[in-house]
Amino acid sequence: MLKHTQHHKGISCEEAIKRVYDFIDNHLKAKARAELEHHLETCRHCFDRVEFEKLLKARLRHLKVDTESKALRKKIDELIEQF
Ligand SMILES: [Zn+2]
Repeated sequence: MLKHTQHHKGISCEEAIKRVYDFIDNHLKAKARAELEHHLETCRHCFDRVEFEKLLKARLRHLKVDTESKALRKKIDELIEQF
């Protein structure tokens, strides 16, 4: 019988960033969400990224901007690169 040990192997930053938008939109499944939340507790970089995205999204929503727009998404990514 295999003994399963609980590894403390979290997701990578790359994986975390991929989930950020779904996380903010509440589209993540429980497991994916828990993994991301765990990562955010230990990774300041990704935590800041989520906070930034939340602020950005709230602001865009306020301005009634279509956040699904590809062109805009690209622009936002460029802004984030400079951030
Ligand atoms: Zn990270």
